[in-house]
Amino acid sequence: MEQVREKAYAKVNLGLDVTGRREDGYHLVSMVMQTVGICDDIVVYKTKDPNISLDIDYGGVHLANPLSAGDDNLCAKAARVINERLGIQHGYFIHLTKRIPVAAGMAGGSSDAAAVLRAINRLENAGLSTEELQELGVSLGADVPYCILGGTMHAGGIGEVLSPMKPFDQVPILVAKPPEGVSTAEVYHALDALEEIQHPDIQAIRKAVEDRDVEGLANCMGNVLMDVTLPKHPIVGTIRDKMLAGGAVGSMMTGSGPTVFGLYKTDEDCRKAAEMIRAAGICETVIATRTIADITR
Ligand code: ATP
Repeated sequence: MEQVREKAYAKVNLGLDVTGRREDGYHLVSMVMQTVGICDDIVVYKTKDPNISLDIDYGGVHLANPLSAGDDNLCAKAARVINERLGIQHGYFIHLTKRIPVAAGMAGGSSDAAAVLRAINRLENAGLSTEELQELGVSLGADVPYCILGGTMHAGGIGEVLSPMKPFDQVPILVAKPPEGVSTAEVYHALDALEEIQHPDIQAIRKAVEDRDVEGLANCMGNVLMDVTLPKHPIVGTIRDKMLAGGAVGSMMTGSGPTVFGLYKTDEDCRKAAEMIRAAGICETVIATRTIADITR
């Protein structure tokens, strides 16, 4: 086999709490992670030379700040990490079709890294287990271990302690990202400076998700990082309010933002809300999709 394709899916956080800080500065989190039907495509080709090169296709969309396609791209980093682990000398050409909004709280970079690890494991017939790929992944980013498997999971520790949950599959979800990007590191830094933090009830969120109780989930959903991002990016609140006014059962920011998602009873409700948000002209990306349980489909 000389080339392998993988899909790299985006996630949203149905719940996000920060519970402390490790001595090395990493934040301890308690998050309910959910894959959604937005993905990047990755094709990895073996090359004879030892270089790892990358080509990024934005599907004709013009990005104000395109990603670096150099050694610092998480795809290239992931390829280097797994090659080192496997003692492989040759390189790769990676073609990335980027659709997941960047710096948006949707783990796009982490998911690309996870997809490259899965791809090279297959391409080289290396036989690394899921756990081994996750161990490699955590050195690239705290969300990478989750992105190796995706689906519905609770993530503890710094994000790498994973507990699978009952799949919260095929729920209509609207994802809307305003033009600005947000730096995850800056948001965590600003969170440390807050005097008071409103912690969401992650156990209640887990229960509502596992009971597939969308209305119950809407009542208890919470993201502690919203207290930081919302005052700096009031558009987050505007989008959430529009989603709620347009029929969302619940709406919240994902990750460090600024992307906002809404949960809907039907695909039709979700599509109508997408049209309404698009017509408001305040978002760069508006995608009506569904939650996904299995990233291998
Ligand atoms: P998270 O939800 O995990 O905090 P995010 O969605 O906020 O992530 P990403 O889109 O993953 O943010 O990107 C964060 C930064 O990572 C980007 O600003 C970019 O500099 C860097 N990066 C490197 N490689 C990639 C990649 N393949 N895709 C996206 N970002 C990448």
